[in-house]
Parts: sequence; C-alpha cells; structure tokens
Amino acid sequence: GTTEMWKEFDKSKVYMVDLESGLHYLLRLFPGRPSVVKLLETLLEWLVSLPLERIPYNAILDLVNNKMSISGMYLSDRLQWVGCQGSRPELRGYPCSLWTLFHTLTVQAALRPDALANTGLEDDPLAVLQTMRRYIGTFFGCQECGRHFEEMAKESLSQVRSLDQAVLWLWSRHNQVNNRLSGALSEDPRFPKTQWPTPDLCPACHEEKDGLHVWNEERVLSFLKQHYASPNISPKYTS
Ligand code: FAD
Repeated sequence: GTTEMWKEFDKSKVYMVDLESGLHYLLRLFPGRPSVVKLLETLLEWLVSLPLERIPYNAILDLVNNKMSISGMYLSDRLQWVGCQGSRPELRGYPCSLWTLFHTLTVQAALRPDALANTGLEDDPLAVLQTMRRYIGTFFGCQECGRHFEEMAKESLSQVRSLDQAVLWLWSRHNQVNNRLSGALSEDPRFPKTQWPTPDLCPACHEEKDGLHVWNEERVLSFLKQHYASPNISPKYTS
C-alpha cells in the first residue's frame, strides 16, 4: 500500500477523521448481501454529509424505507487514522476507532438524552452499551475481544442504572482491557497501554488514599464528558 505521512495530533483531542474512518471500516466489514451493504454505504454518505446537528429518526427511516434506490455512490477508498494512527499499519487503527466511537456515543447519550427521542431507545441507560455489545460479539473480527467483552458485560452491565453510569462503565472496562493488554504483542510501542486518563490529561482525576492510587470518579465523568463532546472533536484532516 501507500506510505502515509505521519500526522501531527494532539492527544487531548478526539478526531472526526478517526470516527468517520471507523464508520467506513465498520460498514465495509458488515457481512451483508451486496444490496444491503450498498444501502448502508448510501445511508452513511448521506448521514456524513448532512449539515444538521440532529438527525430526525423518521428521516432515516424514510430514507431507508423509501428513498434509497440503489445509486451510483461509492465509499471513498481512502481510510486514514489520526488520533488512531499506529507506528505500523497493523497497529491501532480500526479497534482504536471503535473504542473512540463507542465512548463518544455513550457520552453523547448522557449529554443529550433527548437525541434518542422517538427511537424506542429513550429512557434506556443501556441502549448504547447493548448495541456495542451485540456489534462486538457479532461483527468485530477479533473473537478473543468479543469473548472478553461479553464476559465483562455479563458480569456487571446489569448494574448500570443511568446514562452517566454507562459512560463510567465503559471507561472502567476499557481500563481493565488496557491493563490486560499492557506489554502484549498488539501493543504499539509508541502508544503504551496506560490507565487512562493519565495525570497529564486530567490531574484532578487522580487521588491518593492511604498511600494508594484512587480515581475520583466524579472528575473522571466530567473529564469524559468534555473529552468526548462535540467541541473537542477536531475536524482537522477531514477533506
Ligand atoms: P485503545 O485501547 O484502542 O484506545 C483508543 C483511545 O481511547 C486511546 O488512544 C485513548 O485516547 C482512549 N482511551 C484509552 N483508555 C480509555 C478509557 N479507559 N476510557 C476512555 N478512553 C480511553 N485486543 C486484544 O489484543 N485482546 C482483546 O481481548 C481485545 N479486546 C478488545 C475489546 C474491544 C471492545 C475493543 C474495541 C478492542 C479490543 N482489543 C483487544 C483491541 C485493543 O483494546 C486496542 O483497541 C488496540 O490494541 C489498539 O490500542 P490503542 O493504543 O490504539 O488504544
């Protein structure tokens, strides 16, 4: 393939390019019939190009049900990673963008619960996590990942009672995964697995109690709601 130039990025930001490339990748991997894949691609193009901040659910239904005749639209072949770029092509990328996408979705749901109005998902604090769980279990190519994620979900997902708790659940499980994978072959030496957010990103998230490190979860929640919120999603490198 082509060798891409390293893109400078700010690790305190989330990159729209990573979210969009994650979506493209996800839809490419969807093992559907060609006509279904085509439909999803067209839907994606339409969603990405929509200038609205809020997409009415009925508009999507109308599009999928009535207006999506097969057209000559193709997804761009160009996938690029920024915040998710790895020091080698097989590192980071898609799995990183999936985490980023799902954190962004849990935070968006907590910040704007009204966005779920008329979807049948309103008032369900688990809507995003259950969707993620099903996706990871069914379509994410890494079976070991799916098994591990399913184990964590079985163990504690039912304790999640609010949209804020859903944000924190995903954060703490992701740290559990980071901990397990620290030093593994899949680790990018340039991006060592850490307990996140590191003190340089969020000093107030870290506290010490009886000489031991503890998280201040209230501060972590505020940090996540800032980090994965729209104003922190950078449009740099989108074309
Ligand atoms: P990632 O872990 O992908 O994180 C992406 C970005 O999210 C980081 O750069 C950081 O900005 C942010 N972040 C990091 N930690 C947190 C947190 N706690 N909360 C919020 N944001 C955070 N690989 C395996 O080898 N074995 C597995 O069992 C496995 N299970 C996985 C399960 C799931 C559901 C997913 C999505 C991926 C899994 N992977 C697994 C892949 C692995 O977790 C990483 O995605 C991959 O190694 C790339 O790591 P990364 O350095 O890009 O950071």
